[in-house]
Amino acid sequence: MTVRTRFAPSPTGLLHVGNIRTALHNWLWAKKHGGEFWLRIDDTDAERSEERFVESIRADLGWLGLTIDGEARQSARFALYEARFDQLRAAGRVYPAYETQAELDLKRKIAAGRGLPPLYDRAALALTDADRAALEAEGVRPHWRFKLDHDRPIVWDDLIRGPQRFDAKTMSDPVIRRADGSWLYMLPSAIDDAEMAITHVVRGEDHVSNTALQLQMFDAMGAAPPAFAHEALLTGSEGKLSKRLGSLGVAHFRESGIEPEAVRALLARIGTSDPVEPLVDTDALVAGFDFSRFGRAPARFDEAELAAVNTRIVHQLDVAHVADRLPAGMGQAEWEAVRPNLTRIDEAGEWWRVIEGPITTERDPADAEFLAQAAGIAATLDWSAEPWGALTAALKAASGRSGKALFLPLRRALTGLDHGPDMKALLPLIGRDRAIARLS
Ligand code: GLU
Repeated sequence: MTVRTRFAPSPTGLLHVGNIRTALHNWLWAKKHGGEFWLRIDDTDAERSEERFVESIRADLGWLGLTIDGEARQSARFALYEARFDQLRAAGRVYPAYETQAELDLKRKIAAGRGLPPLYDRAALALTDADRAALEAEGVRPHWRFKLDHDRPIVWDDLIRGPQRFDAKTMSDPVIRRADGSWLYMLPSAIDDAEMAITHVVRGEDHVSNTALQLQMFDAMGAAPPAFAHEALLTGSEGKLSKRLGSLGVAHFRESGIEPEAVRALLARIGTSDPVEPLVDTDALVAGFDFSRFGRAPARFDEAELAAVNTRIVHQLDVAHVADRLPAGMGQAEWEAVRPNLTRIDEAGEWWRVIEGPITTERDPADAEFLAQAAGIAATLDWSAEPWGALTAALKAASGRSGKALFLPLRRALTGLDHGPDMKALLPLIGRDRAIARLS
C-alpha cells in the first residue's frame, strides 16, 4: 500500500509556523516511505474561505520545498458528502435535531448545575415522525448529528501518543451539518481520508478527540481508518502558547532572511529526542524522521534558534543556490569569500560594496607612513599568487610591525571596517588597482 499523507488547511488565513510544521511532517513521512503528499483545501466554509489564502498556501508550500503530489478541494466534493450522508442517514447513523443554540446552552447549564458533563441528551432521537412533521411545519429546519455507537470502546494506537482509548458514552453525538445544509469539519474530513486512501493522518493533538469521533465514522462507512499521529503543540520560546506564533509565517521568515532549509531543519527536529542540525539536504531530514522520536511535551519554537540554524545553513549554500539573489557581478569567489561572515544571504550585498567600492575610511595619522609603505609594496606584488600573505610578510619586515598593529590598519584602509571576511580571500577580489588606491 502506498503511503499517502495529506495536509488539510482551511483557507481562512495565512499558514503559521504550527501549520507549517504539520505540513512538513506529513511531507517527510510520505517521502520516507516513497509515498505521496497531498494538499487538501478544507474550504467547506464558503464565507470564511478566501482564494487569496489558497494561493498563499500553495506558494508557501512551494517556498518551503514541500512539493505536493496532488490537491483536493472540499468545495468540489459536496456531491460525495451528500451521498455518504444519505447512506449514513439510511443506516440510522445520522439524525436530525431541532434544538436551537439557546436550548442547547440551557441544557448545558442545567447539566453543569447538577455537576454533570455537558453531554447532548439525544432528545432528538425520542422525537416521533409526528413531532418532526410539526416542527418542520413551523418552519424549524434541523441540523444533523452523527450517532455514536455507545457499545464499543474507541481504541487506536497513536504513532506518537501510543494506545488511546475513548468511551463513546462520554461524548456528545457531534453535529456534522448545519440547518442551512453546510458542512462542519468532522464528517467531510473522514469521508475524504477514506476516499483519498489516506494512510496516515498527522496533525496536532488538539484533534485527538475528533479522531475518536471520526474513527466511528470510518467504521459506519465501512472504511478502514488511516493510522494517526497526533503531535504535541508548538509553544513559544517562553514556554507558553504564544500569540506571536500565530502570526509567524513564510512572509515573516522571508523578510527576516530565513531560508526554507533552516525552517525545515528546525521544524523537523524540535519536539523530538534528536538534536537540531543545520541539514541543507532534505534526504538527511527524511532519513532521520520518525514519529517514535517525538515526545509528548510541547515543542518549543525559538526564533533565535531559527536564526542560528539559518546562519549555519547559509554558510553551506553554494553559489549556484544563491546566484539569483546576489548583486550583478558577484560570483563564486566573492560568494565563498564573504559567506562565512553572513547570517543571511542579502548581507552579501554589503560585502560586495566593500569589494567594489567606493568605501570611506578614516585613518590614524600615526599609520600614514606605514600605509604608504604598504601601497608601495602592493604595487610590486605578484597579484596572481596570494597577495595578502606576500603583502603582510613584506610589510612586517619593512615596518617591524606585527599582530594587530600590522593587520588592523591594513584592514581598515582596504575595507573601511574593523571586522570582516578573511583578508586572504578578500584582497584578491578587491584587486591591485583598488587596493593601491585605498592604501595611498
Ligand atoms: N482543516 C482542519 C484544520 O485545519 C484539518 C484537520 C485535519 O488534519 O484533519 O484543523
